[in-house]
Amino acid sequence: MKYVVGVDIGATKTKVGLFTLDCSLVYVDAFTTPKEGDGSLIPQVIVSKVREISSKIRGEVTAVGIGTIGPLDIRRGDVVRTPNVGQASFKLKVPIEKALGVKTYVVNDCVAAVWGEYLVGAGRGSSNVVYITISTGIGGGAVVDDHLILGKDGNAHEVGHIVLDYSGRFKCGCGGVGHWEGIASGANIPKTASLLSKEWGGSKSEAFWKALKGLLTPELLFSYWASGDAFAGYLVDFLAEVNAAGIASAINVYDPEVVTIGGSIALRNPEFFKLIERKIVKYTINRVPRVLLTPLGDDAVLVGAAMVAINTPPNLVKLQSDVSDYL
Ligand SMILES: [Zn+2]
Repeated sequence: MKYVVGVDIGATKTKVGLFTLDCSLVYVDAFTTPKEGDGSLIPQVIVSKVREISSKIRGEVTAVGIGTIGPLDIRRGDVVRTPNVGQASFKLKVPIEKALGVKTYVVNDCVAAVWGEYLVGAGRGSSNVVYITISTGIGGGAVVDDHLILGKDGNAHEVGHIVLDYSGRFKCGCGGVGHWEGIASGANIPKTASLLSKEWGGSKSEAFWKALKGLLTPELLFSYWASGDAFAGYLVDFLAEVNAAGIASAINVYDPEVVTIGGSIALRNPEFFKLIERKIVKYTINRVPRVLLTPLGDDAVLVGAAMVAINTPPNLVKLQSDVSDYL
């Protein structure tokens, strides 16, 4: 029996899953993404996890697909200068391929997710699919005319850094100003809440005081919102507007038939997602597509990574076919 491995490398957690060739998940394991040590540690722990998992089955692993935090050097299959883990830059494709002796393909996490969505998720049967994650960060991936969009370095999907505000008030972790992620991602919600609390003329509610001190986390915000807090209501409406404008911008650029939304903030707060959904039409020029929460849930990147191994996009095969000169 033949299997593939899908890997989802996040800033906090890495998941390694063993899949059959019809994309059924047989076994999955998760561990904390190593933040210490040099760049060789991350591929090393992935290799030992793949060996451990494949020792549980009779059969062979034929390929590995990886969806990772970026940015990437897609030709080499390396992560370069990521702000998310201590190592900053680390190799993936070459050391893993060498150690395991099987083809290994590396793409950005949201790019993997959209490939999974397109082949086995809500995008099945559609030629144009966009996936967007609203989580600690905001990112996206797109399939246009049945073609997975990669770009010159594998970063052609940085929708999280679409500029949605020119006032100069919102700074993004990337150093840019007014980026979607800099306003509405989980990591930036406390900062945005603090800023808006200083401009707020309404009643001084519990959420307001937390926000003023920079302590209004996404979890607190949505629980205050559910209990009817006025400032939380104002902030959630503002964030829904920002997310709707961002999603609409992706719709205007890629013209998809279906947009799926993943990431913990969206998946854990379906009422927030409904609010966003209602606001999208205001900002779109293209015929409005189906917009829904991803049916792949928390495993969207993992499943997508497995599909990258099972049914590798031809343009990715071309880009990553020969890295021997990088060894
Ligand atoms: Zn940015």
